[in-house]
Formats: sequence, structure tokens, C-alpha cells
Amino acid sequence: MEHLTEIRESVRAICNAYGEQYWRELDANQAYPTEFVREITESGFLGCLIPEVYGGAGLGLVEACAILEEISCSGGHPGAAHAQMYTMGSVLRHGSAMQKDKYLSAIAKGELRLQSFGVTEPSAGTDTTSITTTARLVGDRYIVNGQKVWISRVQHSDIMLLLARTRSIDERNSKTDGLSCFIVDLMGAEERGLTIQPIDAMINHHSCELFFDDFEIPVENLLGQEHKGFSVIMDAMNAERILIGAECIGDARYFINKATAYASERIVFNRPIGQNQGVSFPIASVYAQTEAAALMVDKAATLFDAGKPCAAEANMAKMLAAAASWQAGDTCLQTFGGFGISRDYHIERKLRETRLYQIAPISTNLILSYLSEHVLGMPRSF
Ligand SMILES: Cc1cc2nc3c(=O)[nH]c(=O)nc-3n(C[C@H](O)[C@H](O)[C@H](O)COP(=O)(O)OP(=O)(O)OC[C@H]3O[C@@H](n4cnc5c(N)ncnc54)[C@H](O)[C@@H]3O)c2cc1C
Repeated sequence: MEHLTEIRESVRAICNAYGEQYWRELDANQAYPTEFVREITESGFLGCLIPEVYGGAGLGLVEACAILEEISCSGGHPGAAHAQMYTMGSVLRHGSAMQKDKYLSAIAKGELRLQSFGVTEPSAGTDTTSITTTARLVGDRYIVNGQKVWISRVQHSDIMLLLARTRSIDERNSKTDGLSCFIVDLMGAEERGLTIQPIDAMINHHSCELFFDDFEIPVENLLGQEHKGFSVIMDAMNAERILIGAECIGDARYFINKATAYASERIVFNRPIGQNQGVSFPIASVYAQTEAAALMVDKAATLFDAGKPCAAEANMAKMLAAAASWQAGDTCLQTFGGFGISRDYHIERKLRETRLYQIAPISTNLILSYLSEHVLGMPRSF
């Protein structure tokens, strides 16, 4: 696939200008990579999934995966920007003609950032169908009240997708009924009843708590059908899992490259440490694990692009890739010995960043639960 090689080379060229020191300083200051995100947007990579008719590149998830993988593999943190790639899919598939015209072209041009996705709540956690933030229709507005947690990049986004309850739990027709999805305009939102509180976290992911107090959303900002918002969000979630799987493959390859080079050049007992199989075998082993996970990421992305069902593959891709990246990070740290602990070598930062992906956007247990029930047909556990 020649065009994939070209995409990878172009992304690598951009990343070269934002070295590991750039990401280290952002991490130390909990700062946002504004310049990097602007460049990756203006180069068209962040809008790669937006159809050409709206000014995007009209590419598929396979290409989007290559882009995120390269950013990770360069030592960068695509978590700062990745959300736009999957959230725009909900607008594309469920938006009205007016919404698509209004938002997609502006996102493709980089005039509008859709970097935020408001689903998780403190009391519901993984159990999304139990969320309690309400959106009550009054005239031509929905009035939103409630709380969200871990909502990333909300301070670096112009619009956000929000999931809220429009029908009470007692009145819903099924577990997933009664939730609706909205496009929230964040411009001046803090003067209109939205309070944003950043969370002090172990990684630089710009996550916040949100408090809605009689916050108004115009009725035309409902995305998809009222009460059917769960499927609007789920559509984005399969893409999200595959893309994050690709980021993890990039992390794993970053760690393997570093470990391999260091094992070949670090001399202890008058020979390179990689000459000891106790050092080289763990690296070779996680290389095999990573290559296998990469095949699953590619399979999931290919199915997604063909419009075929891919929930099982998307979940497995994220799970296997996140396990491989963590294992690769741990192996890399061990290979570097004491130097791995030093921030100067960047390994500890990448290790913290890649650890997230066994928890979010969906935890390993919940993936295993999905596979047990929906793929293997075992009894439902919750
Ligand atoms: C840095 C960061 C960024 C995030 N960004 C966003 C964002 O932008 N938007 C957004 O909406 N959300 C975001 N999230 C939230 C994320 O999706 C959730 O943290 C994740 O879904 C897990 O939910 P929870 O933290 O409430 O864990 P809980 O649901 O409380 O679960 C805690 C643990 O218990 C396990 N568990 C729970 N129930 C079961 C069960 N039935 N069987 C077995 N194990 C179970 C889970 O696997 C998990 O390990 C982010 C989270 C983090 C940490």
C-alpha cells in the first residue's frame, strides 16, 4: 500500500520537528500541544476521515490508524488530538444535512475543534446506560443538569458531543433507550451554566470534571434521534477503540526500538547487554506480541472501512494492543535499568501514558465481558 507509506513518511516528518523534549516539557507543565495539533490539522491529517465533499481527505480508518501510530512511535502523545477522528464519525453518520454542512467543513479546515466527548459520570462509571445527567425539553431548548467526569480536552475544543438522559430510567423502553446525544457549543459555555474543573492526573490528558446547571442547548443541536443517542455514541466508540489500538502499537514499537538500540550499545561486563538472552528474549517476545496485536488492529480497521460489523475485533484490537504496549514499556524500562527511571530517557512518561489504555476508553474486564457474552455466548454477568 504505497499511499500508506507516503502518509507514514509525511507524519514522521511533522513529528521530527516536535521531539521528545517537546512532549516532556508539556508533560511537566501539564500543557497542551497547541502548535503540534495545529500543524497536524492544517496538514489535513486530523480531518483524514472527513469526506472530500466537506473538505476532508476522505480516507479510511486504516489510514487514520497509520497516522496515530506514527505520532505515538515518534515519542509523541496523540491523545491530545485523537478524539476529533472518532467524534466526527457520529456527526457524519447521524447528523442532519444542516449539521454536516455546518460542522464538518469547519472541522476539516481547522476552524472548529471537536476534540471532546462527554459520556462518563462519577456515579455511573462504565455503566453508561445508568447516567443521570438530564436534558429536559422546554420549548425550543434542552435544559441540562448533572455532572460528568474525565472529559478530556474540553478546554481545547470548540464543540463537544454530550450524552444525556431525555427519558427517566423508570420510563425507558430498554436499557439503552432514553439517552440523547447533543452537539454542545463550548464558546462562552462557562457563562451559561457549565463549570469546568481540571483533574490533577498522572498523565497530561487534559481531563476535566463538568458541572451543568440549567445549561441550555438549542433543539437543533440534537444529534440523531431523541432517546436513541446510545447508538450515536456507540458508533464512535468502535472507531475509538481501533484508533487507540493503533496508538498502542505505536507506543509498543517506540519502546521496542528504544530497547533494541540500547541493548545493542550499552556495555556491561565488557559486552553489550543484548548479548545476554535474559535481556534480548523479553524484547523479542514482546515484538512478537506487538506484531500479532497489529494484525488485529488492521483487521478491525479494514472491517470498519468496509462497513462490516467489527465490535468484537475493535475490542480485541484495543485489548491486545494495550497489553502489548504496556509489556513493551515494562521491558524497555528493565532494559535501561536505572537510566529508565530517569525522566531524561522519556520512557517513564510514555509508560504512564500507555497504561491508561487498559482502563479507558473501556477497561480490559469490560472487553472480556463483551467477548464472553456476545462472542462466546456465555451467560450474561451484569
Ligand atoms: C485520562 C482519562 C481520560 C478519559 N477521557 C474521557 C473522555 O474524554 N470522555 C469520557 O466520556 N470519558 C473519559 N474517560 C473515562 C473512561 O472512559 C472511564 O474511566 C472508563 O470507562 C472506566 O470507567 P470508571 O473509571 O468509572 O471505572 P469503573 O466503572 O468504576 O470501574 C472500575 C474498575 O472496575 C472494573 N469493573 C467495573 N464493573 C465491572 C464488572 N461488571 N465486571 C468486571 N469488572 C468490572 C472495571 O474494569 C475497572 O477496572 C477518561 C478516563 C481517563 C482516566
